[in-house]
Amino acid sequence: MANNGQGEQNQPAKHQEVGHKSLLQSDALYQELRELTAKHPWNLMTTSADEGQFLNMLLKLINAKNTMEIGVYTGYSLLATALAIPDDGKILAMDINRENYELGLPVIEKAGVAHKIDFREGPALPVLDQMIEDGKYHGTFDFVFVDADKDNYINYHKRLIDLVKIGGVIGYDNTLWNGSVVAPPDAPLRKYVRYYRDFVLELNKALAADPRIEICMLPVGDGVTLCRRIS
Ligand code: SAM
Ligand code: CA
Repeated sequence: MANNGQGEQNQPAKHQEVGHKSLLQSDALYQELRELTAKHPWNLMTTSADEGQFLNMLLKLINAKNTMEIGVYTGYSLLATALAIPDDGKILAMDINRENYELGLPVIEKAGVAHKIDFREGPALPVLDQMIEDGKYHGTFDFVFVDADKDNYINYHKRLIDLVKIGGVIGYDNTLWNGSVVAPPDAPLRKYVRYYRDFVLELNKALAADPRIEICMLPVGDGVTLCRRIS
């Protein structure tokens, strides 16, 4: 590749040249939420940029409008979702930690999409139970993204299958669980990876055997399993 020397030093990097076609509509916002999260001690939890882009495209392809997210953290996947759905679209977003959501919120506000978000602080399971009991939420969600406590995914699935509409999609994140799902039983694994691996394996088996859904497991990010409700 030709090197034009000093003259190129002040030129924008290649990815910046595409300007506002990037995922977050603005290079500045795209950078801002990732940089802000990078400084946070639990930054390992954030959704990868490729997965954020994938979610954004998927939501547009299925014309999702009424959505739910379990596990928000600083809001990267939430922002990708909020930018993909129409202006009157909704995201019921749940997390036990409001502080981290509020760290990313100014960026979501700058993107002009905060009005689509109904954030609930607290464990997600009781909220799902309440919605099921209520009766009026059955089969109402176009899309649900689950990215929270892996030991509860099976419990979420039992409820979400009822709340998502037929033809709607549930995405379970981290279903490759650091690749540990295919590691031999005696493989050296970090403690938390080993602890949650059995829950992820149990979920993967349950989803594969569930006749109410069609599944597709994608090696995007740490693996995401898409479940399309068929009955
Ligand atoms: N989707 C986020 C993103 O794009 O940055 C990452 C989510 S992070 C992997 C997991 C989140 O789940 C944490 O913020 C944690 O507080 C939340 N969480 C853990 N247990 C939960 C529960 N029972 N109900 C709701 N949220 C929970
Ligand atoms: Ca995740």
